[in-house]
Amino acid sequence: MQIYNSLSRKKEDFIPREAGKVSMYTCGPTVYHYAHIGNLRSYIMEDVLEKYLRFTGLDVKRVMNITDVGHLTSDGDTGDDKMLKGAKREHKTVMEIAKFYTDAFFADCAKLNIKTPDAVVPATSYIDEFIRVISSLMEKGYAYEAGGNIYFDTGKLDKYYVFNDFKEEDLAVGVREGVEEDSNKRNKADFVLWFTKSKFDDQELKWDSPWGVGYPGWHIECSCISMKNLGEYLDLHCGGIDNAFPHHTNEIAQSEAYLGHEWCNYWFHVHHLNTNSGKMSKSSGEFLTVSLLEEKGYAPLVYRFFCLQSHYRKNLVFSWENLDNAKVTYGKLIAKIAPLLSDKGGDIDKPEFERLMSGFTSALDNDLNTALAVTAVYDVLKSQSNAATKLALLKEFDKVLGLDLIGAAEKSLEVSETPEIPAEVMELAEQRKTARKEKNFALADELRDKITALGYEIKETRQGTEIKPLES
Ligand code: AMP
Ligand code: ZN
Repeated sequence: MQIYNSLSRKKEDFIPREAGKVSMYTCGPTVYHYAHIGNLRSYIMEDVLEKYLRFTGLDVKRVMNITDVGHLTSDGDTGDDKMLKGAKREHKTVMEIAKFYTDAFFADCAKLNIKTPDAVVPATSYIDEFIRVISSLMEKGYAYEAGGNIYFDTGKLDKYYVFNDFKEEDLAVGVREGVEEDSNKRNKADFVLWFTKSKFDDQELKWDSPWGVGYPGWHIECSCISMKNLGEYLDLHCGGIDNAFPHHTNEIAQSEAYLGHEWCNYWFHVHHLNTNSGKMSKSSGEFLTVSLLEEKGYAPLVYRFFCLQSHYRKNLVFSWENLDNAKVTYGKLIAKIAPLLSDKGGDIDKPEFERLMSGFTSALDNDLNTALAVTAVYDVLKSQSNAATKLALLKEFDKVLGLDLIGAAEKSLEVSETPEIPAEVMELAEQRKTARKEKNFALADELRDKITALGYEIKETRQGTEIKPLES
């Protein structure tokens, strides 16, 4: 497989360090709010990458952090603490917010068929590890104390800007309007490893350290969580493109300074989901969530399908019209698969299977071209192969695409077999719902009797109201 490596800025053969095994690290969510569908675009594409690596027979170990401390509203060292902001907004503690939004994140991932990584590590559970690595950086002369904080000294590196050709004077940190320059820093690009002089009087989470009571910076968490779980050498590191600088740049700086050798070979960056007004972001306050899509009648997998239709290295523009198109196309695709289910006869045609499979793998081998991999699904459906061959291929493809191709087709058949409920019964059910809401149970019972008299049974289930013809 070839993937584009942001480090070399070209497509490269993906060769893990240890034959047959891949160590993979993913920057996890900052859990001060719901993940928006832009964040989830990154996780969907990383999920496809992980699943495809597994599909090719590689044994992948994937680790993800949960940022529950240290991430300030600017990705540098300025602005508010995002977690504290979330806690204030909701009048809760930071840990309550972290738990709530971590659970919400994994619930969204489940709906989108995103596999949970093998290890998920909240930053707050690794404080001792951060202190150990920061102490070592101090001993090696890569970190210094100034104004109460511990900084990484980027001046000690031969090359700091690994992903881009930034010049120090162009760097935005410290020179943005309304943000005071941190005069403690020896170089503009230096970043905080440990804050002791918290500028937030009400900073909730603080830990003792050799440098005083405080809390870790954001960047150090990913280096430590990765190195502790995946060892000194990492094959593949993923994240959204906005993380390349400064977050990943800082991760490389501190990890390699600590280890004394190169750390990660491949950097996989997913480009942004944009709206007409720019990048979708949590801080803008206006963003779309999976629940909102569901409320508006879009199944979460329609969004996954929408993402797979374009390449991860292109910005993707979200609009309701684009999502509608994806909804229609996904529906048609499922409708084409459904008839195959009742026609399972025949043996798998091996040469045909191999031919169509190679269309799928060559698409993904080419820098994870998911749009072409989706086209390979259509190639299967259009082919002259028998139903058994087609179904076997779709099942295999779906291990990577995660679109529930077969399951959704089965469900579509169930729905079309469900008899239509007469309008009169639906109207009575609606009236009964209102009666129940108003706690008028006598009326609700009366309405149920009327529904029964018309030959239908009405039941409240956890999924909502169920109406079906009375069994004769
Ligand atoms: P956060 O929860 O803000 O730490 O971000 C979680 C992940 O989402 C990171 O990998 C970000 O780079 C990524 N991300 C943030 N905004 C977008 C966006 N609009 N489109 C795609 N990925 C994004
Ligand atoms: Zn990270």
